[in-house]
Amino acid sequence: MPAAVYLGDGDIAVRELDVPDLEPDQVLVEVSHCGICGTDLHLVLERYARPNSVLGHEWAGTIAAVGADVHGWEIGARVVQNPTPGCGECRACRRGRSSVCLRREPPDLLAWTSGAFCRYKVVPSARLLRVPDGLTTRAAALTEPTAIAIHTVNLSGVTADDRVLVTGAGPVGLLTTAVLKARGIDDVTVSEPAPRRRERARAVGAARVITPDELARPPMGRPVPEPYTTAFECSGNAAAAEAAFDHLDYAGTLVFVGTGHDMPRINHNRAIVLELSIIAAYNYDIEGFGPALELLASGKLPLDALIEPDDVLLDDLLDTMHRLAAGELPGKVMVRPETRS
Ligand SMILES: [Zn+2]
Ligand SMILES: [Zn+2]
Repeated sequence: MPAAVYLGDGDIAVRELDVPDLEPDQVLVEVSHCGICGTDLHLVLERYARPNSVLGHEWAGTIAAVGADVHGWEIGARVVQNPTPGCGECRACRRGRSSVCLRREPPDLLAWTSGAFCRYKVVPSARLLRVPDGLTTRAAALTEPTAIAIHTVNLSGVTADDRVLVTGAGPVGLLTTAVLKARGIDDVTVSEPAPRRRERARAVGAARVITPDELARPPMGRPVPEPYTTAFECSGNAAAAEAAFDHLDYAGTLVFVGTGHDMPRINHNRAIVLELSIIAAYNYDIEGFGPALELLASGKLPLDALIEPDDVLLDDLLDTMHRLAAGELPGKVMVRPETRS
């Protein structure tokens, strides 16, 4: 099968790999589409990935073969893979935070040996979720990042009364904005330097878009004239995080969502005087991917604005990663695991 293999030194090439062997409790899935995530960009362009790995974790596909012990699934079923459930008993699970279950294997953040930038994947049948009828398999590849956006919004405790700032209008910021809008949170301002991304932020539901220089330095020890109650930092940019924090109102909350290389400097005096909170969101709610599939199928998300219109073949993955890192493509790019020849 064709696969986009990370070779090392920031390079990717298409290689022929064996179709993975199927265990009795697994199904073989033919990947329909796999989205390119910011994590993939970090792993490849900043060269953290392990050579010979296949990246890509935002996929949806169709069952192509079923293991001997699998019941309730048939060839042709359209599926995504639910995250692992927590133990249900540890402190994190008891707080409804199963995705950071204390008894799970410590995450190996570089263990991407069997991603989905390839034609076939094996998946344990216990983890399968069916794609609802009203949702295309292509759009279902947005399930994983949508689940993250839902988790982010839920953790923040944001309500329709809140005045929200989103910093960064790449795929993460756009999805967060779209989920906020779908939840009835209308007062959302998006700060983003790239004009094309600002335009897209409006298309997915931002009430107002601004450039980062419109977030002026705050007065000492009190809020700016029009402060935000909640800020979602989706850019991974240190200056954006500092500005988002500085623009919070009394008792405001900053939510870290975007990872980045440079670390922000947070004014702890300001945090104390204004009684600010800083939280962070990494993965999923206890319900897994079900609510994301439901929201995607509901028609409440502007899928055409969230997903770039042109799909990419495996041959063009690396070029596209560079274009994404340069901010040329605001939405989620879907890879179709095929080659040009
Ligand atoms: Zn991701
Ligand atoms: Zn647990």
